[in-house]
Amino acid sequence: MNSDYCEFCHIISGETTADIVYQDEAVTAFWDRSPAAPVHILVIPNIHIPSLNEAKMEDAELLGKMVLCAQRLAENQAVANRGYRLVFNIGPEGGQTVYHLHLHLIAGKRLPIFHG
Ligand code: AMP
Ligand code: ZN
Repeated sequence: MNSDYCEFCHIISGETTADIVYQDEAVTAFWDRSPAAPVHILVIPNIHIPSLNEAKMEDAELLGKMVLCAQRLAENQAVANRGYRLVFNIGPEGGQTVYHLHLHLIAGKRLPIFHG
């Protein structure tokens, strides 16, 4: 398979089924299949960027759209005021398993304080 066309690219194109909650010309958001909390949604760019390490200054607007998409989804899921966590896992030691940039929106329970 072309390394620039991954499992998440297939979700964007519709070739792989996912529970998509939001999609526009820039980003796609879908429920994580192994949720870590009652609300666990992944927000991804519609272009294949392997990880945050490969993001460029020209991607700044796209990164901003990902973050603001997550903020709106938190509002839609009625967790914005309760609180939520946005996470980028980057690289092996960062816990990244899928190499298509994604932002985790995690919420719906009291999350453990992160100490690293
Ligand atoms: P990360 O460890 O940051 O790379 O997170 C990858 C996340 O993607 C994990 O939480 C997986 O459960 C989730 N995941 C992987 N494949 C799929 C898929 N096809 N549909 C939904 N979630 C997925
Ligand atoms: Zn991809």
